[in-house]
Amino acid sequence: MTDQTVVNALKTPGQLPRFDLFRVDQVTETIGELADRYLVELEQIEKNVSPTWESAVASLTDLEEPLSYAFAIVGHLLAVQNSPELRTAHESVLPRLVETSLRRAQSNGLYKALLQLKESDEWQKLDGGRRRVIESMIRDSELAGVGLEGPQRERFQEIEKELAELSTKFVNNVLDATKAFSLVLTDPDEIEGLPSTARGMAAQYAAAAGDATESDPDKGPWRITLDLPMYLGFLMHAKRRDLREKVFRAHVVRASSGDLNNEPLIDRILELRAEQASLLGYENYADVSLATKMAPSIEAIYEQLDSIRESARPKASEEFEYLQEFARRETGDAGLELQPWDNAFWGERLREKELGYTDEDLRPYFSLPRVLDGLFGVAEKVLGVRIEAADDQATFWDPAVRFFQVKEADGTPIASFCLDAYSRPENKRGGAWMNWILPRKLLADGTLQLPVAWLMCNQTPPVGDKPSLMSFGEVRTLFHEFGHGLQHMLTQVDFAEASGLSNIEWDAVELASTFMENWCYHRETLLGMAKHFETGETISEDLYQKISKSRQFRIASLIINQLFYSELDLRLHDGFTPGQGQTPNDLKVELGKKHLVRPQIPEDRLLCSFSHIFAGGYAAGYYSYLWASVLAADAWEGFVEAGLDEKSIGETGARYRRTVLGLGGTEHPIEVFKKFRGREPEPEPLLRQLGLA
Ligand SMILES: [Zn+2]
Repeated sequence: MTDQTVVNALKTPGQLPRFDLFRVDQVTETIGELADRYLVELEQIEKNVSPTWESAVASLTDLEEPLSYAFAIVGHLLAVQNSPELRTAHESVLPRLVETSLRRAQSNGLYKALLQLKESDEWQKLDGGRRRVIESMIRDSELAGVGLEGPQRERFQEIEKELAELSTKFVNNVLDATKAFSLVLTDPDEIEGLPSTARGMAAQYAAAAGDATESDPDKGPWRITLDLPMYLGFLMHAKRRDLREKVFRAHVVRASSGDLNNEPLIDRILELRAEQASLLGYENYADVSLATKMAPSIEAIYEQLDSIRESARPKASEEFEYLQEFARRETGDAGLELQPWDNAFWGERLREKELGYTDEDLRPYFSLPRVLDGLFGVAEKVLGVRIEAADDQATFWDPAVRFFQVKEADGTPIASFCLDAYSRPENKRGGAWMNWILPRKLLADGTLQLPVAWLMCNQTPPVGDKPSLMSFGEVRTLFHEFGHGLQHMLTQVDFAEASGLSNIEWDAVELASTFMENWCYHRETLLGMAKHFETGETISEDLYQKISKSRQFRIASLIINQLFYSELDLRLHDGFTPGQGQTPNDLKVELGKKHLVRPQIPEDRLLCSFSHIFAGGYAAGYYSYLWASVLAADAWEGFVEAGLDEKSIGETGARYRRTVLGLGGTEHPIEVFKKFRGREPEPEPLLRQLGLA
């Protein structure tokens, strides 16, 4: 297609979207048109469907493609280039998304064809991967209410629509509440302790908001926001305890009052999910969630959480006492009681003392360009692929977005991806994530469509003429998202229904990403990339040893938070009923007492910004992070056991690429894991890695 014929960026399925041609005023009409066509053609397919893979599966994938492509672009832009116009457009088409996806999942005709296919001779001819896809489709249809009739069916559809609206509202409230707070500081005394990166960022925000004509990191003014890098930087470093408290309090009450209050939304979401579960014949929503997970049962999850808690909780208590003693010694205040806004600050001071470095000492060694070299080096050494910049081949939603191609060692293209690395609080949502626009897929003409992934981070942006100087946490995050990207891009599956991350159980998805983080601690990899951005000098062996040691630094305190979030999420979806005495926040307080060493402040409204479970698809699935950490640590031990020398890395890496990264959703994750590791996963490697064994 030439530039002249491409007038609508939403209408180029199978190609990299032309973001330069995207027009928000085309969204409603285009998606309406695509949805209408989809529904008409779906009816045709339903009428003529036969129990074969081609008819009951592949033809639907093809039919869906133009619509899901357009939706993917709009949903993505909402996350990375949010604007009032786009929100309105998105809200206007959201009901169509729900309507069309439900229409297919609830189609009796298609459901019956799938059941027939399973009983037919055709079934014997299908490979295991395609059979697994069909079984997932049957299950998903059942979860979408295919078995419901009449009023129950209507009710189910109403709930789906309302839930979709509620989750969009939930995220928008969090985004708006995050933006609504800022603290303008003008006295240098107020920013004492803040490292230059944070000062620079705060001065840049101040200038952007019109507090000053130009940003001056040393003279101010400085604007402190709740945007994550800024928020964390302030809590870790600002010496003024009263200001830390102010910023902390603003953060933990986000979206919990006024027009942006998410509390009524939470009640409603939980209520609707419970109703949905009961319509489907499940006891509660957690069971609905587990139907699509790798974990065998909710009891198995509680058991795993408990066994980790057994080692982590006492250790976390020790860590807290130790930190408090340290803070008392440093301040000379023997009666000092650490408050939640003190933990990060004193944690950093203790880290400086015991590990002898600060995050700020490391930043100059982790400039984005060098970190990318290191990351791509791992991909080459371990997986045998080459990654090359291809920025001139595409335009994205922001000029800072980079584009890369992934190739085999012999130069054959395999995939491509873009990287939107920097925090952009004005229009990009927080956190880091991976998404894709094109899956690997064998096309009708026999050519192979190559996968395209989108990696999004929210790391410290470049300040002035310095490149983005990353904290070590930001480096880890980048490796993590790249791990997700690799699973999408290095898949060997040729049909979209199971290529990449498609048809993989949720709680297994974090394996590939968490696994990648191990390379940040691997000596040769780290020394290879940690080079000073100005002098090129490699980070010292001593600093490497300290980074390596830092992995277990106060780790139990972090793990108990994960355990707390995981159990809170599960319990909210496992028999909890809002409006019957205990509120979701009460449950949070109760579980806080069980897991946390010190209770949260009474005003804390963590649930109001817990987008993962109320808007992000992690409902009764937050435990997946810990679950997958067990898999990832065990997979890493596979590399360690083989020796981590060049030869063994190549061999183990090739096996890892063939299995974990290659097999997509064609086999159950436990089988994939066994193919790589030769046995079922065990929790000990994780406990050892964290020093909790
Ligand atoms: Zn992840």
